[in-house]
Amino acid sequence: MSSSDRHLATICAHAGTPGKESRAGNAPFIPPIVQTTLFDLGTTADAEALFAGRQPGYTYTRFGNPTVERLAEVLAQLEAGAGALITASGNAAALCALTAALRGKDDRIVTHPDVYGGTLELLRIFTERYRVPVEIVDPARTVEWHAALARASVVLIETPSNPLLRLLDLAATAERAHAAGAQLIVDNTVATPYNQQPFQFGADWIVHSASKYLNGHSDMIGGCLIRRAPLTATHRTIHKNLGGTVNALDAWLMLRGLRTFTLRMEAHNHNGAAVADWLTRHPAVSHVHYPGLPTHPQAALFRQQMRAGGALLSFELHGGADAACRFLDRIQLIVHAVSLGGMESLATRPAATSHRGLTATQRQAAGMGDSLVRLSVGTEALEDILTDLEQALR
Ligand SMILES: *Cc1c(COP(=O)(O)O)cnc(C)c1O
Repeated sequence: MSSSDRHLATICAHAGTPGKESRAGNAPFIPPIVQTTLFDLGTTADAEALFAGRQPGYTYTRFGNPTVERLAEVLAQLEAGAGALITASGNAAALCALTAALRGKDDRIVTHPDVYGGTLELLRIFTERYRVPVEIVDPARTVEWHAALARASVVLIETPSNPLLRLLDLAATAERAHAAGAQLIVDNTVATPYNQQPFQFGADWIVHSASKYLNGHSDMIGGCLIRRAPLTATHRTIHKNLGGTVNALDAWLMLRGLRTFTLRMEAHNHNGAAVADWLTRHPAVSHVHYPGLPTHPQAALFRQQMRAGGALLSFELHGGADAACRFLDRIQLIVHAVSLGGMESLATRPAATSHRGLTATQRQAAGMGDSLVRLSVGTEALEDILTDLEQALR
């Protein structure tokens, strides 16, 4: 079995550790944290060979670092891509992928209104400061969406979306984007490579906030971009000069978190599906949004492109905003906090946090009631999560 044929659980269990072929006599099994700004260049002849690219090696950590490179190899393997670049945040990954995918002339970015809020704010900088046109179109308006895709040079999508867990057809979107000569970037943060593999459906780039499920321990901020085809020298130049690279310590924390990634995802998938099902039967709850529910309006698409529903869901309560606030004030085990993807269950009210910039009418138009609660289901014992939900909903 070559290391590229290994299963995700195996890749994760050995994340960053040396393979048999490179395991020297008494080398540490767990990779060291190479926490340094600079590297000794050696002789002037060595320095010349390094800078000319004739000799592999390191000069300065923003250009490359052994700990960071180990992490990049693991992330590329997890998504079955040819190469990965690590960034200081998910937003830095989106900035880098968008910049790498733009052609530099006659560019037009197409996306949809329910991508991550920070991504929309980043795109506003593209329009207002860089003068790159950005079209934000609701994919449910099929005719407009298809017309926008036909004009695009870069398409950025997120599926499932957040907080309403809507799905977008990856294969169909890739096909239309490619017909227009555009590249497709998929934010796979919510689904994770455990539950969805966008390269199988034709995506060109995948971006992640590693601050969520990939690291999984809610103790760092990081991101990555992964390319289906090999990275070019231009992509690497863009990455290092945009400057949102990571230090070895954060890269090491991500590697440490990844070692339990598949175990955590099994637990998240189990708890997420069970909590979603339980909520559909609760009298205080009027609607549950979760891609793995058989009643999800896109259940067929779910089966086509996702392996499991994950652990992010949202639900509407009878009783409006007041009921949602009472729920958040009563939860004991579940933490009232933003973010997602950690082992601890988290709850927020999007109308008061991620979507507070919209008016109640705009939120209503987007399908988001003021009683909507978003839940990131953790890996605690299911019974303890349900007990807390029950006492807070009562
Ligand atoms: C959190 C998040 C981001 C941004 O990631 P940061 O690490 O906070 O910069 C991007 N996309 C999605 C889907 C996210 O949840």
